[in-house]
Amino acid sequence: MQRFFIPKEDFSGDYIVSRDKGLIGQLKKVLRAKEGDKFWLFEGSGLEYLGQLIELSANQAKFLIIDKRKGIAETDSQIILYQSLIKADKFEWVLQKATELGVAAVVPVVSARSIVRQVTPAKMKRYQEILKEATEQCGGAVIPELSLPVSFIDAVKHSAKQPGVKMIAWEKEGEADLIKAKDSCIFIGPEGGFTEEEISLAKDGGITPVSLGKRILRAETAAIASLAKLL
Ligand code: SAM
Repeated sequence: MQRFFIPKEDFSGDYIVSRDKGLIGQLKKVLRAKEGDKFWLFEGSGLEYLGQLIELSANQAKFLIIDKRKGIAETDSQIILYQSLIKADKFEWVLQKATELGVAAVVPVVSARSIVRQVTPAKMKRYQEILKEATEQCGGAVIPELSLPVSFIDAVKHSAKQPGVKMIAWEKEGEADLIKAKDSCIFIGPEGGFTEEEISLAKDGGITPVSLGKRILRAETAAIASLAKLL
């Protein structure tokens, strides 16, 4: 059954009224939805609502809420991905796959060797859309949080305030493996990797270097491999 994210402000009592042109277009033209059809709808808190379409016009789609439940695809673990900025298309791929895997938040990091050093507002908007669409597609009920890009040291400080195990994936780490825990943070470097100085700053910040195996993975592969193991 098709599912859609609808902002909380469109919920009112037992009804949901959306005036989002994209949603209306998808219902009318793509799904050829008709009154009586049911959809799972979510507003991002972790709950999902079974909505019966009771009105579909060019300007609005109105649903009657006929059931509500905790999102069945939500995990109770919190994994935060501190992803160094990498080339945009690869970064977008990481956002999509990390969402499917159930990441709670993505913090873009401007690492020393990041080639990409900033994200424009238009790009941030596109990244948000990717997170929303991936959440809809995979049956999630919470869209992962995406923060604005931060410096490496600010990322270390941010992670210190998070619960659980903090790790930084470092290809020069020979022994330590990823540590599975209910809550964790994982740092992934850019195409050129982390500098020795960044690794030492991470250690000072209570972040443990971990190995993802003997092979050198591309940054995007490392991100997904880590999340797949942690989740
Ligand atoms: N220094 C690498 C090289 O020599 O090609 C480049 C870094 S790698 C392409 C990008 C990121 O993926 C690294 O910063 C690290 O976070 C992670 N990574 C890749 N392979 C890894 C491994 N075997 N163990 C731990 N982390 C790895």
